[in-house]
Amino acid sequence: MSSSFLDSSKANSYLQEYKHKDGLAVEALMDDQLSGGLTYNDFLILPGYINFDARKTSLESRITKKITLNTPFLSSPMDTVTESEMAISMALLGGIGIIHHNCEPEFQANMVRKVKTFENGFIVDAVVLSPRNTVADVQRVKAERGFCGIPITENGALNGKLVGIVTARDIQFHKDDTTLLEDVMSTDLVVAKKGVTLVKANEILRSSKKGKLPIVDEDGRLVSLLSRSDLLKNQNYPLASKSDDSKQLLVGAAIGTRPDDKDRLALLVEAGLDIIVLDSSQGNSIYQLDMVRWIKSTFPKLEVIAGNVVTREQAANLIEAGADGIRIGMGSGSICITQEVMACGRPQATAVYRVSEFCRRFGVPTIADGGIGNVGHIVKALALGASAVMMGGLLAGTTESPGEYFFHEGQRLKRYRGMGSIDAMSIKSKGEGNAATKRYFSEGDAVKVAQGVVGNVLDKGSVRKYASYLITGVQHSLQDIGCQSVNEFHESVYNGSVRFEKRTAAAQMEGGVHGLHSFEKKLFSS
Ligand code: IMP
Repeated sequence: MSSSFLDSSKANSYLQEYKHKDGLAVEALMDDQLSGGLTYNDFLILPGYINFDARKTSLESRITKKITLNTPFLSSPMDTVTESEMAISMALLGGIGIIHHNCEPEFQANMVRKVKTFENGFIVDAVVLSPRNTVADVQRVKAERGFCGIPITENGALNGKLVGIVTARDIQFHKDDTTLLEDVMSTDLVVAKKGVTLVKANEILRSSKKGKLPIVDEDGRLVSLLSRSDLLKNQNYPLASKSDDSKQLLVGAAIGTRPDDKDRLALLVEAGLDIIVLDSSQGNSIYQLDMVRWIKSTFPKLEVIAGNVVTREQAANLIEAGADGIRIGMGSGSICITQEVMACGRPQATAVYRVSEFCRRFGVPTIADGGIGNVGHIVKALALGASAVMMGGLLAGTTESPGEYFFHEGQRLKRYRGMGSIDAMSIKSKGEGNAATKRYFSEGDAVKVAQGVVGNVLDKGSVRKYASYLITGVQHSLQDIGCQSVNEFHESVYNGSVRFEKRTAAAQMEGGVHGLHSFEKKLFSS
């Protein structure tokens, strides 16, 4: 009896041949001739083979030539997204925050300093007071910085001789805030000697049951401090982005490309900045190329992310000038009207693929910036070769984003605005124009042309929970695709084993919730 089935040896070779062949390789997906520019919603990734636990998936990725993160997430340098609180949380979760520059240079530098001193192995610029300071001074530090375990030295400065320590307990029931600290401070001190290893110092801190461990030199002068609360934070954030030597959190900041930005940068570097992002809506300019060269020759250790770009030609110039990372996106941001007003830009999926595929030949990582609206978009950006994603709207509305919550029609909201909105461009600043006008080359214009809008976003709770959800979501997605790391994912896309498919408008409808009378979309629980 004849059968229409293949015999077993033929079936086997057919199976081998057609493994991974369904769908399209990335180059075919992105073929401009056929599709025009694509956005993240225009395609899907086909599932692969699962033989590992999602929790084992590594999201480690290089975001500049020299800096690798455990979580490939950056928060946007926008004044409703990233100040020090956001940057601290992003770094604790293994990503990095890029502090905005729509403020005075000193204010921005202070925010950088706050991140750098937030969680240290050793706090090297501890707040110190003298015995002649008062209880009121301790209360002021508590109000401004949120802690009151303060070492007391003879001269009230670091490197002075350590004479005591004031803790919350010492001043708790003290009604007279003019009392001198020499009358309330504890003098039975547990200290460690300069040169002690972090592990050993942590042990001493643990066994002493004190909140702070002062580190002193052989003459008893205070050189740094170790904090018990940092110990606990260390335990909770195993992915944290830290510099190898000082163990301080990593932080980035944005500047423009005008002469006065050089002075701003000097302040940021002094505050301990790790990455500088040159913030321009169109990065292929003589100003930016000169700035990249100047920074690389003046601060050779500082990593420079240049951009924004959406074409290979733009990226080529920045790479040639010495950029360590390239930021991709023009007109794809959720608050953005650039494509509408300027007729300039590129659909983001195509931009990310074309630029990343070019940059990887030079070992320059890329960051997909704008239009990331959910976990799937993060994965698609990575699939198209981006080393990391930058998010504005997705992180706005969290507790750690700047601004106050307010209620509107029963919902708790926060403001989120484009840096090219008239609102953001109207912030007063020293010198000519502010950061927002410089980003759009419009500081000299009598009429400001908006490239962004002002809006509101829903309260998302703490970014520490929200970003943890994004991380877990990406891990599960990579598991579905069958890749155990971002690096493996990139390789598998480029060698054609990860496959893609276009999505028609009907397919997009099918992929969303449909056919229900009403529903609640709760994204995660923890
Ligand atoms: P989102 O993540 O989609 O909200 O986009 C955030 C990104 O939009 C930022 O990182 C910037 O690159 C970009 N962006 C910020 N402000 C504006 C604006 O006013 N117009 C256009 N793009 C903007």
